[in-house]
Amino acid sequence: MITRNEIRELANFYADDNNGVAALSFYFQPVTPQDRSHRNQAILAKDIIKEAQKEAAAKGKNGPIHADLDRILEVTGKLTGHSRGHAVFSCSARNFWKEYDLPPRLGATRISIQQRFQLQPLAALLGAQPALCVAAVDRRRARLFDLRLDELRELADIAHPLSRNSSKYGFKGYEGGHAERRVAEEALQHFKAVGESLLASLEKGAWEKLIVCCQDSNWPEFEAQLHPYVKQRLIGRFSEDVAGISNEDIRDRANTILDRWIEERGRVKSEEAIDQAKANGRGVTGLRRVLRALETGEVQTLFIADNYKSRAVECPHCGHLDAHIVSSCVACDRPTRELTDVSEAIIPMAIRRDIELFYIKDHEELDRAGNIAALLRFRADQNRTGQTAIAS
Ligand SMILES: [Zn+2]
Repeated sequence: MITRNEIRELANFYADDNNGVAALSFYFQPVTPQDRSHRNQAILAKDIIKEAQKEAAAKGKNGPIHADLDRILEVTGKLTGHSRGHAVFSCSARNFWKEYDLPPRLGATRISIQQRFQLQPLAALLGAQPALCVAAVDRRRARLFDLRLDELRELADIAHPLSRNSSKYGFKGYEGGHAERRVAEEALQHFKAVGESLLASLEKGAWEKLIVCCQDSNWPEFEAQLHPYVKQRLIGRFSEDVAGISNEDIRDRANTILDRWIEERGRVKSEEAIDQAKANGRGVTGLRRVLRALETGEVQTLFIADNYKSRAVECPHCGHLDAHIVSSCVACDRPTRELTDVSEAIIPMAIRRDIELFYIKDHEELDRAGNIAALLRFRADQNRTGQTAIAS
């Protein structure tokens, strides 16, 4: 699975097009399991690459791009029946080749040949994804997981076996009542220990958000043992028998909660950005203002409508991005280069600077605001008038 450092490496990559050098990005989106026509997806992928080969040949782009396309074509041969998403980033002229399995949520199978790697599908998967801990807890055991990009990794297994089952004693006599109280006390100590372990790992920075898998009957008792800092980070819970649930089920149930949370958070925060922009506060809308805020380092969170595409120019010399299609850079006067989609330059920039990135679906207000908006850490123009920066 891809790491943050690897994504940064992709975001830093720039292929100078002077010698026909290009960065190729290939994404394979398998069909949904209901569809069952996996084979067709692999054939479709092959067709897409063959089409790209023809186009490159027609444009007289031979040499390195062809070597890349040939190698990617070989990869498509292995994708028949593949149920995971797959991505290849390639630039043979620079001896660069990376291949990753990804969650099957990449939109569509496609190839892009640009100066930078196409990172939009990766950003849509990862941009707003917090470091997530999933805690599966019952009265005697707790398993703590890290969930990232569909990969569930076990961090800790905490077991406090209860004393002999109280039911053996019956509940009527003194012995029974005593044993039952002891078991309850042991469960309480166990919940306490799990709560402490969660607090310790949170304070160490091991995770940012928490999802709990715990049966309804145990939840009030466990919840009471969670430190307020831990509780603040809780984004959802599902009720399931921890002893019987598989890792795949834990992953799927947690992912559903996470996706809903990200969508809701993106909606709420984008509205906040739009309101702040209207009030001349810590928000901007529209490409021109967002680009300026990116250049001044003000942007904390970026919101892009998921079907947004806009032309722009960039200056290969100083990196300036301009929403106006001008032939020379307003900052350094050198010739600019046109981008068919400004996201090609914005997304790597957001990744390099750790800007939280949300893709927003069907949002009328964002649509009216120009399909792009940002929440700011501070406003540079207001700082100049003597106000101090507002901390996030
Ligand atoms: Zn410039």
